[in-house]
Amino acid sequence: MNAAIADVLIPLALDTAYSYAVPAGLDLAEGDVVQIPLGPRETVGVVWGLRDGAAGSNLRKVTARIADEGMAPPLRRLVDWIARYTLAPKGSALAMALRLPEDGPRTETAKVGVRATGAAPSRITAARSKVVAVAADGAVRGKRALALESGVSAGVIDGLIDDGVLETVTLAPERVAEPPDPDHPHPPLSGPQRTAAEALIATLTAPPAGGGPAGEGGVTLLEGVTGSGKTEIYFEAVAEAVRRGVQSLVLMPEIALTAQFLDRFTARFGARPAAWHSGIGGRRRERIRAGVLAGEIPVVVGARSALFLPFRHLGLVVVDEEHEAAYKQDDGVCYHARDMAVVRGKLENAAVVLASATPSIETRVNAARGRYRRVVLPERFGGRRLPEIRAIDMRREAIPRGRYLSPTLTAAVAETNARGEQALLFLNRRGYAPLTLCRACGHRYQCPNCSTWLVEHRFRRALVCHHCGHAERRPDACAECGTVDSLTACGPGVERIAEEVAATFPDKRVIVLSSDFPGGAERLRAELQTVAEGGCDIVVGTQLVAKGHNFPLLTLVGVLDADIGLASGDPRAAERTFQLLQQVTGRAGRGEKPGRALVQTYQPEHPVIAALISGDAERFYEEETAAREVAGLPPFGRLAALIVSAAEREAAEAHGQALARVAEPPPGVMVLGPAEAPLALVRGRHRFRLLVKAEREIDIQSYLRDWIARGPKPRGNVRVAIDVDPQSFL
Ligand code: ADP
Ligand code: ZN
Repeated sequence: MNAAIADVLIPLALDTAYSYAVPAGLDLAEGDVVQIPLGPRETVGVVWGLRDGAAGSNLRKVTARIADEGMAPPLRRLVDWIARYTLAPKGSALAMALRLPEDGPRTETAKVGVRATGAAPSRITAARSKVVAVAADGAVRGKRALALESGVSAGVIDGLIDDGVLETVTLAPERVAEPPDPDHPHPPLSGPQRTAAEALIATLTAPPAGGGPAGEGGVTLLEGVTGSGKTEIYFEAVAEAVRRGVQSLVLMPEIALTAQFLDRFTARFGARPAAWHSGIGGRRRERIRAGVLAGEIPVVVGARSALFLPFRHLGLVVVDEEHEAAYKQDDGVCYHARDMAVVRGKLENAAVVLASATPSIETRVNAARGRYRRVVLPERFGGRRLPEIRAIDMRREAIPRGRYLSPTLTAAVAETNARGEQALLFLNRRGYAPLTLCRACGHRYQCPNCSTWLVEHRFRRALVCHHCGHAERRPDACAECGTVDSLTACGPGVERIAEEVAATFPDKRVIVLSSDFPGGAERLRAELQTVAEGGCDIVVGTQLVAKGHNFPLLTLVGVLDADIGLASGDPRAAERTFQLLQQVTGRAGRGEKPGRALVQTYQPEHPVIAALISGDAERFYEEETAAREVAGLPPFGRLAALIVSAAEREAAEAHGQALARVAEPPPGVMVLGPAEAPLALVRGRHRFRLLVKAEREIDIQSYLRDWIARGPKPRGNVRVAIDVDPQSFL
């Protein structure tokens, strides 16, 4: 007997499923992907429920089932779960899991490469001869890759194609993934590493190939100091999952990280895994989705959106650098990918591994409460020592104005280079200078859409807003008073440090690494490789270099400004700063030679800096955790933010106040605000924030739902965004 009515969830910002009549002869199941009429057009949805009953004549009919394979129950439960937890409309949560085929470009643009024809150029220039020399080996390269390798612009390559010196060839589409070989030859693990790997393997729920008991899943925190071999260890769990025929998902916080990671994976498994992130094109996405759904792709490495792939037998989820704030999505559906990975793991009965050298306090507390297992590696692989860390008290250093490297740090860099070793100078600020002002009239360049200063990017010759992307040419004369050549850069960005380094060490090879540089992942990968191979003496970089990378010749890390970030009103400011500094200083001494780190600070006695220097991470975490507990902050209490925004400041403020008036918080709940957001204007919208603080036992979602339902409906262009467990307080 077929069901008469299908409740179909549509991937739009709707909270409820719509009812449709099931036509006779169409046998539907829950999870089926169907085509349905919606208003004047046809759209796609997923059958969320089926019921019997008299289909009233007013119900429209399901048009057809359109996919062979429906959405499996665990993924549907995940959508429900996320919608309930984040208060996002259920349809919006569904949209993340249901990428419609018509989303991306349907045709995959065939990749084109170039190779030498053997013909001599009609005209020879220095640039052209460089290309000819590189292409002489006859290999096929991408145009961009050839230009990069030859150190010329793309125009030179085009000129040589026109000239008949190079010819274009169409490359067969790259495979989305190759089968990983779990037993591909690799260096053996050390004793403690093996023990840790076995502990992870013991949690796998899929039965071992040769018989024997299966594990019980759950979450394991893999905590190991930088360089202890966490990646090698969870690779063993991935290998075992492959042997047992279940799929693995490895989540990475940033796309920039995945390129180098893929190489490493390839070295371990002799094959490339499927990579999934926003940079993957439409057709390729479809092929990966299909491969994952069919169970043919054993391992996916991806950014947070990979969490919504339709795995057939998900057996293992690894969240690398689990403490990273980048796992939180801050617009649309505000979900935390690490937390949702735990949820998905539970729904799929898969083992979950959270890996970090500096786990978040939330995860540490979960481990301490016994909800997560904890596997600890206190030492670096191969007996390598952790770097010695010292503070440079900037109050005692004589530094000329407009310069940022202290004499102590400069001397240390020179000394390091003299030994043939590398130094890394770290400043967590992109661009050249965070503020540009006119010396004549004092005018400061501000974003027209946001309440932020424009950051000078000298490399791009532009003033850029880091919030909305607004960019303008850096003018020659002040926009306010017209004085020529009066603009002055205030404060340092990483490009400015690079300039100072080049002036101080004119004969050293310097590489600057920042996520906003042109050339994308490909160039970044080439430069990271150069650093790893010793092709540079000094690296200047933003937080991009802090994570995951392995530079064996690097023995000195200099932190230019350890105090950035400590002053913000973010309750996690201390934790974040500690994690970042610990990560970046941990880049030193990962090879044969011991490393050291020097940290420039104006407040060496600050608990974060003191903990970093003493190396007493445990004590820092204990104190920070105790402080959170006293303040009732997460994970000891719950937080949610309401961000009210509107084109007019008054409208946003008025709506925020109207909401606050009907907040009626029950005991254990506190509503603060509305207060103007620290980022008061973003993309032309004025912002006010309300913060809800609740005790841990309180169902904050129910309270929020109830409050919003009671509250005034936003009118005109007023919008209210809800952020449960906010990570950003801007
Ligand atoms: P973590 O992720 O803990 O910082 P990695 O997994 O990146 O550590 O390992 C640090 C470095 O030590 C890497 O270069 C890695 O290849 C090397 N390494 C770790 N374990 C081993 C091992 N058992 N044999 C050989 N090299 C290892
Ligand atoms: Zn802006």
